Amino acid sequence: MERKVAEMAGKIKNCPVCGKLFAAMGRKMCPDCFAKEQDKEKIVIDYVRENRGAKIPEIVEATGVNETLIKRLIREGRFEQIGIKMTYPCEKCGAPIVMGKLCQTCQEKARSELQAARTKIVATMPGGGNKGKGMYSKR
Ligand SMILES: [Zn+2]
Ligand SMILES: [Zn+2]
Repeated sequence: MERKVAEMAGKIKNCPVCGKLFAAMGRKMCPDCFAKEQDKEKIVIDYVRENRGAKIPEIVEATGVNETLIKRLIREGRFEQIGIKMTYPCEKCGAPIVMGKLCQTCQEKARSELQAARTKIVATMPGGGNKGKGMYSKR
């Protein structure tokens, strides 16, 4: 009995948009907000269809929809579906990208910086960190 209640509770979530409780069932937000979200998506796509080449700030200003939603639509390829190439700027250098937060160049740079940092850590470890462990030989 109690177990069943707990299971039920696991499926009831607070909507991240309006805070209302709703039955999750694989959904990210409550049905009301989901419907509103879909309306917004339609507004944005209609706007871009009529104003080809519009930049994200223009779309935000004209439609009142937030940037996050527009970026998500770009990542999901929703503009490509209607034959419009949309991009958003890389967070580091501003190059046009369609997925993630950074462009290819910045991604590679970040990766090699990370690798360099890692190599440094290993080099500064005393004795390579493997002495003493050899005592426990497996049988
Ligand atoms: Zn909601
Ligand atoms: Zn970049």
